[in-house]
Amino acid sequence: MNVYQSRQRTDGRWEFTMTDGSGGRGIGYCHAAPVLSDFVKLGIEVSEEEQARWREFESKYHTDGHATRGEAEECYRRFVLDNNTVLECEDRTQQRMCKVCGAWTTKFAMVGDHKIVQLCDAHRNKEELEKLVCKPSVIFSS
Ligand SMILES: [Zn+2]
Ligand SMILES: [Zn+2]
Repeated sequence: MNVYQSRQRTDGRWEFTMTDGSGGRGIGYCHAAPVLSDFVKLGIEVSEEEQARWREFESKYHTDGHATRGEAEECYRRFVLDNNTVLECEDRTQQRMCKVCGAWTTKFAMVGDHKIVQLCDAHRNKEELEKLVCKPSVIFSS
């Protein structure tokens, strides 16, 4: 099982980390910007899309940690909103209420791998999502 949480480093700074059986490491923006050659060495393919995102958000990656737990969580929230959010999703078999105005809609946005946020056409945009998506505290996944 992987555990996602803010952790304090030995130098007192905080970073958002993923811990698995082999230890913990900074994730999201809490580590050095990814370098393609490192992935090539490991035989991992990186899509053009992902490389474009790396370039776009390159300046947000950092290794200096955060002053507080909350800051590290905010950093990861930012990362997910920037990199792992799909606005245009639809389930035609079900109508649910828009989280902002209550209108019935089959459309939704997907934040991270699991979080569904029901939003109508008028409200399905980044600004509304930012207001609705709260900070991650601890996220478990297997
Ligand atoms: Zn960070
Ligand atoms: Zn709405």
